[in-house]
Amino acid sequence: MNGHPQFDEDFDLYALGALEAEEKQAFESHLRACADCTAKLEEANGRMALLALAAPPESVPSGAKERLLRRVHGEAQKTPKVAVPAFLRWLTPALALAALALFIVAVELKTENRVLLEKQTELQADASRLQQEAEREQSVLDLITASDTVKVTLVSGTARPMPEGRAFYHPRKGLLFYASNLPALPSDRTYQLWLVPAQGNPISAGVFQVDALGNGQILLPKLPLDVTAKAFAVTLEPAGGVPQPTGAKVLVGAVT
Ligand SMILES: [Zn+2]
Repeated sequence: MNGHPQFDEDFDLYALGALEAEEKQAFESHLRACADCTAKLEEANGRMALLALAAPPESVPSGAKERLLRRVHGEAQKTPKVAVPAFLRWLTPALALAALALFIVAVELKTENRVLLEKQTELQADASRLQQEAEREQSVLDLITASDTVKVTLVSGTARPMPEGRAFYHPRKGLLFYASNLPALPSDRTYQLWLVPAQGNPISAGVFQVDALGNGQILLPKLPLDVTAKAFAVTLEPAGGVPQPTGAKVLVGAVT
């Protein structure tokens, strides 16, 4: 071997002690004169050492190793020596083992890579979920705080209807009053209707009770004529009524 080795694999073969005696001799004589190839051989030594560390022999499945060795030996025997192509020439048992070890390392790396990919996918799913929750919360906040959002109170259809009163009043023709949905009262209490005039104190328009459905009425009570009404009110008073209102206002309605 006068020039540099023709194939880069020769460095690995030499590092593995797999060169044939003749080649080995030529290689070594060239090495003494070539700094480049000496450096390359150091690299090859390093590679082989790493390979040994990465995949110790006991980690290679014995069945696979034997099958591979059998194939390598079989092919080497069937092929005439002169016709062995360069790339097959380096397939010595030792290098075949190294290749197998590299293959195993590659498979392990691939597995590791897949696990990392799965973790990344999980993290992306988490981030997307958090993003969606944040967007929902923002939407709820926007809805609640908008000035033109309408607010509606809904009640059960079976709930008791709101108490209500309707007064029909004319200063000369008199007063009609109907109440509905008022709670029933104990016998010592009564509802009392008041005409609240534009000036002066409230004028009693009489007392009334309600029936089982909460309905009550006062028809054409005795009232002074020509009184301008400002409002009407119903208060809760002692049985029989009082000259001036004392109890809680149950219903109130202004004349509009
Ligand atoms: Zn060289």
